[in-house]
Amino acid sequence: MRKPFIAGNWKMNMTHLEAVNFMQDLEYKYKNKNNCEVAVCPPATALKSVKTIIDSDNLEVKLGAQNMYYESRGAFTGEISPEMLKALGVEYVIIGHSERRQYFGETNKGVSRKVNAAFNTDLKPIMCIGESLKIRESGKAEEFVMDQLKECLVGIDEEDIVDLTIAYEPIWAIGTGRTATSEDANDMCLAIRRKIEEIYNKKISEIIRIQYGGSVKPFNISELMNMSDIDGALVGGASLEVDDFIAIINYQDSSDT
Ligand code: PEP
Repeated sequence: MRKPFIAGNWKMNMTHLEAVNFMQDLEYKYKNKNNCEVAVCPPATALKSVKTIIDSDNLEVKLGAQNMYYESRGAFTGEISPEMLKALGVEYVIIGHSERRQYFGETNKGVSRKVNAAFNTDLKPIMCIGESLKIRESGKAEEFVMDQLKECLVGIDEEDIVDLTIAYEPIWAIGTGRTATSEDANDMCLAIRRKIEEIYNKKISEIIRIQYGGSVKPFNISELMNMSDIDGALVGGASLEVDDFIAIINYQDSSDT
């Protein structure tokens, strides 16, 4: 049984002071009826403040970063190493988000180096893959996403892969208000799981968690989460509103009624 995993990607939003206010409000209103694993991924400048609140309030929320570099140290101005994140108490790190691919030239090869570096530092990557609208309309979405998956997993062995979360995020659904239908999202998540079985084995494919991301909101989360192969969500915009984020965490599970 895979534990549902809801992660909030704050992107480049919130100063560390705003992050503290957000976390205090989250702590005050927090409930988690589905016993999900929950993570927040603030900007690097707010990681320390958010961690302080999580620890002082014993909040059952994990800390994630939005990016990292694959080297440990050196002349890489502006970059942050996996060790630096680890030292701050970070547990998860988003790697290969489509905005990083689109605006900062990240490639599958770079993503695979980062995923490897994350595992070498005991960080758990949330690895993003997904197709553009043009590719979806050409009918080649699955082929594209499977190629991305294969290339991003180069060098990842069986021992590590179980701690990988894959976020399937169709680019055309991110921040646009357009969500993939639950069936389309689930079909791709299933295809990803089958590919994992092909590359690794069945047991691993049944353990690995696959999130959907792309305009997840309180009104569509329940349908997505009740699909067979969607194990969670990577949430952008709606994770910036405490009430929405809590509503998403507390989606309606079909086995509840
Ligand atoms: C994201 O940032 O990964 C994302 C899916 O954003 P949004 O929920 O705003 O579409």
